Amino acid sequence: MAGVIRRLDETVVNRIAAGEVIQRPANAVKEMIENCLDAKSTNIQVTVKDGGLKLLQIQDNGTGIRREDMEIVCERFTTSKLQTFEDLSAISTYGFRGEALASVSHVAHVTITTKTADAKCAYRASYSDGKLKGPPKPCAGNQGTQILVEDLFYNVSTRRKALKSPSDEYSRIVDVVSRYAIHNSGKSFSVKKQGETVADVRTLPNASVVDNIRGVFGNAVSRELIEVGCEDQKLSYKMKGYISNANYSVKKCILILFINHRLVESSALKKAIETVYAAYLPKNTHPFLYLSLEIAPQNVDVNVHPTKHEVHFLHEDSVIESVQKHVESKLLGSNSSRTYFTQTLLPGLSASGGSEVKASSSTAESGERVYAHQMVRTDCRAQKLDAFLQPKEKPAPDPEPAGPSSEEAVTKTVEPDDTDMADTDDADMLEALAEQEAEEPKEDEEIGVGAQEAQRKRPRKEQKEQEEEKDEDLTAAATPKRRAIKLTSIKELRAEITEGTHKGLQEMLQNHSFVGCVNPQWTLIQHHTKLYLLNTTKLSQALFYQILIYDFGNFGVLRLSTPAPLYDLAMLALDSEESGWTEEDGPKEGLAQYIVDFLKKKAEMLEDYFSVEIDQEGNLTGLPLLLDKYTPVMEGLPIFILRLATEVNWDNEKDCFRDFSKECSMFYSIRKQYILEAEPGEEQDAEGNSWRWKVEHVIFKAFRTLFSPPKSFSEDGTVLQIANLPDLYKVFERC
Ligand code: ADP
Ligand code: MG
Repeated sequence: MAGVIRRLDETVVNRIAAGEVIQRPANAVKEMIENCLDAKSTNIQVTVKDGGLKLLQIQDNGTGIRREDMEIVCERFTTSKLQTFEDLSAISTYGFRGEALASVSHVAHVTITTKTADAKCAYRASYSDGKLKGPPKPCAGNQGTQILVEDLFYNVSTRRKALKSPSDEYSRIVDVVSRYAIHNSGKSFSVKKQGETVADVRTLPNASVVDNIRGVFGNAVSRELIEVGCEDQKLSYKMKGYISNANYSVKKCILILFINHRLVESSALKKAIETVYAAYLPKNTHPFLYLSLEIAPQNVDVNVHPTKHEVHFLHEDSVIESVQKHVESKLLGSNSSRTYFTQTLLPGLSASGGSEVKASSSTAESGERVYAHQMVRTDCRAQKLDAFLQPKEKPAPDPEPAGPSSEEAVTKTVEPDDTDMADTDDADMLEALAEQEAEEPKEDEEIGVGAQEAQRKRPRKEQKEQEEEKDEDLTAAATPKRRAIKLTSIKELRAEITEGTHKGLQEMLQNHSFVGCVNPQWTLIQHHTKLYLLNTTKLSQALFYQILIYDFGNFGVLRLSTPAPLYDLAMLALDSEESGWTEEDGPKEGLAQYIVDFLKKKAEMLEDYFSVEIDQEGNLTGLPLLLDKYTPVMEGLPIFILRLATEVNWDNEKDCFRDFSKECSMFYSIRKQYILEAEPGEEQDAEGNSWRWKVEHVIFKAFRTLFSPPKSFSEDGTVLQIANLPDLYKVFERC
């Protein structure tokens, strides 16, 4: 027997459609909150009974609904927000289909009390199946709208049965309100059970996003947040938000995602972000993220599903990838407060000064489990290799001759953060410079010079008057006390440096964490999650070379306490094995005298350009001051003098400047042989600074700001990656 096909009763159709939009109380709450926000409300209060099945009440202080519109607000497809189909693509309000209220009225008893600003009183009306039950009645009320939804799904028993417990529905409602509250900081929200005086979530009108996250999710997460924000004009999207750092993790990923101010879900984005965190969080734990994306409305397809939960948009993959990259960069950049799991797992480390036990009470208040890695954290800056290798503290320099340098050395032992702060400032400066650089590529050298000028200001002031005078004569109008170098040869040498820069290495050196010196020649640093072994000798030599080229003609002077006769220096050099002198070269005395005479002829130029001072008698009296608080190891001086005479092409301007700078930078570089000869007892210079101190606080500090590492260093063993933290972590995790 064939069934009879009949047109469905209209109320049945509407009820089915309603079930699509409103699947559970939390959906209704979301729709109504969006309506409140569309109506420009700044205060939204939600009251719930029996998980919203008995009662849902949403009170706002928005524009209200006009008396004459009250008749139709609950009919399907009535909306004040959309007139033509084309409007759909440019919609900026939450609602647009006029479906929400209608749907609710088909599956619940709805009562609306509302007052607009210019109405004399409020009006109240009740609805059933989308229709007004009786004419709106005037009543007392403040501006805004109160929507009362009673007995949700009273006429859809299957839906009612499918729902979980009232408490589960209630927590979903609290969740929706909380998320909108976080996203709409500046507006106050509250959600509570009917009859209760205390709200389960309440946000204040002047609270920040982080305040609201703290209020909802607790201190444990709010204090581990990194602010994120990026923009891509090509993909026409903007993103901002807060993400948890690697110190924080939860059992389930919390991704609060708003797209064009609508709470949505995007499993693709979630997956992409989880991938990023997977490398940093303990196995089976997840991050917290609040992300707000704004995408050109015409690129968003909001019409996917009546609940508008799942959103798709144009260039989705590219946008997701772009967001993913940004999140990763921010996550890695948050180095300073990272907990290094490997460190916390190393035996004996918990007793070190850099660790801190988190107060468990603060995490308890949020009701979340405290994970082991959250309890003990180590600030990576507070622990350096030295702490493990040298049980005894380096004696603080005698405070008596309290020059600026020894003062700093004292500060250093007391507050290790001090120097790091300075580093950060420098890094910021460099970042700003780098930005500028990107905009004006032609200005490269000037910028590099500017950065070094800042470094050199102080020592130069301390120089003798004659120095000052000399400077003034040569002053360029734009940069006082700075002599402009117009020599093509120098400009070319500077360009060679800039063009040969390895950007990746540069970024690494700018943002590294210093780990420790292995010996004078090798240093360990950490960058992101990787540990690197760097050839200090080669890097410092390149650094000094670049300083010589960039600061050409603008050096301060390191005056020798007693003039050093060039003749003696040359003899010392010739006596050393390193010179390679043989009988065939002729008598040493003759060679030495030749060197003295030769360099004396170059004295004027050497002094003018390189601050190498040679007096009438053939004594060396001054050397260039290349870095503040840095003096070369004088054991290298004889060979330097010898090589100046033998290894520099003095006939060609560019070659000469390059060769001289190469020789000089070799002399200034941190080198194993000289320093090791001076050990044991840690050779210290006149200011009481050991080579270790200089490597960390002078050389590596300069790497952050003044250095353009050449490309070859990434391939010739100067920089070696020796470990990757996620790999290490995975190893430890299995233990
Ligand atoms: P939509 O939001 O898609 O327009 P709704 O069914 O959610 O459809 O709402 C229908 C209309 O009712 C809205 O266009 C709006 O004019 C009015 N409205 C609903 N809630 C409010 C509110 N809280 N304040 C003011 N107007 C409201
Ligand atoms: Mg709506």
